[in-house]
Amino acid sequence: MAQEVESLLAVIFAGRRKSGKLDLEAVEMATRAALHRAGAAVLEELLAAQGEGPRQVPCACGQAAPYRGRRGKRLLTVLGRVETERAYYVCPACHRGQSPRDQELDVEGTEYSPGVRRMMAVVGSETSFEQGREQLQLLAGLEVTTKVVERQAEALGAEIAAQEQAAIQQGVPWQLPEVKGLEIQVLYVEMDGTGVPMVSAETEGRAGKQTEQARTREVKLGCVFTQTTVDARGRPVREEGSTTYTGALETAEAFGRRLYLEASRRGWNRAQKKVVIGDGAPWIRNLTEEHFPGAIQIVDLYHARQHL
Ligand SMILES: [Zn+2]
Repeated sequence: MAQEVESLLAVIFAGRRKSGKLDLEAVEMATRAALHRAGAAVLEELLAAQGEGPRQVPCACGQAAPYRGRRGKRLLTVLGRVETERAYYVCPACHRGQSPRDQELDVEGTEYSPGVRRMMAVVGSETSFEQGREQLQLLAGLEVTTKVVERQAEALGAEIAAQEQAAIQQGVPWQLPEVKGLEIQVLYVEMDGTGVPMVSAETEGRAGKQTEQARTREVKLGCVFTQTTVDARGRPVREEGSTTYTGALETAEAFGRRLYLEASRRGWNRAQKKVVIGDGAPWIRNLTEEHFPGAIQIVDLYHARQHL
C-alpha cells in the first residue's frame, strides 16, 4: 500500500516539475486508481485469511461431497480485480462441484462482487447499456463490457418480472416500484408491429388471412428514448445512445406489459412529458390507453399513410 502511494507521488511530482502546474483531474483520477489497487490488495488478504474448511460438505443430491483442494477464483470488486482461493468440494455421486465460501460471499456462479452487481444494475436501469458501461468507468473506475451491464440489468428485470407474475397470479393490482433517478424532460415510447415470414410448423393452428394456414406472424417491437433538444425546424432530436429496444412474437396483451416494464425501467413515472408514437393501429391505441394513459399520442406519418 505504501509502495503504491509512493510511486503515485513520484508520478505527480515529476509531472509538476515538467509543466510547473498541477493537473488536478489527472491527479485525482490517478490517486483513485492507486487507492483502488491498494484496497484490492487489502481485500485479497482479507479473503485469503480463512481457516481450513470441513473435510466434506452435504451435496444437494443427498450424498457427501469431499474436499478436493483449493481452487482459484477471480472477482471484480468495487476496488478492482481480486484473485482469491477457496476450498472446493466435488460430489462423487453426481459430480457437482461447490464452494460454500462462494455462497457465504454471495458470488456463486458469478465473477462480480455484490457491490459491483449493484452498481451495474443501477446504471443499466438508468440508461442504455453502453452509457452504463461508460458511467461505471468514469464514476467507479471499473472496466466492464456492455454485455455484462446488460446481463446484470436483465437479471434485475427478470426478478421484477417474476414478482410481477406472482402479483398477477395473486390478483394483486399490477404496479411496479417507482424507479428513482434524475429528472427526465421528455420520454418517448414507440411501438410497431410487422409481419415476419414463418415456416409452417410455427403457424400451425393459427388462422391466416387468405390461406388456411398463416404464412406470417406479427413481431411487435417497441423502443424507449429521451429527447433533449429540437433541430432547426423544431422537430425533436433523439438523445444519442438513449434508445433501448424490446420486442417479441407475442400477443398485444403480453407485449403491452413488456413495453410498460421497459418504459418503467427507463423512468416513465417521473418523466415530465410522456409521448407515445405509433402508426394508429387499433392494438397500439388500446395498449396506449391501458398502459400509458395521459401520454401525448403521435401518429407516425409514414405509417399513418398505410393505415388511414
Ligand atoms: Zn451430489
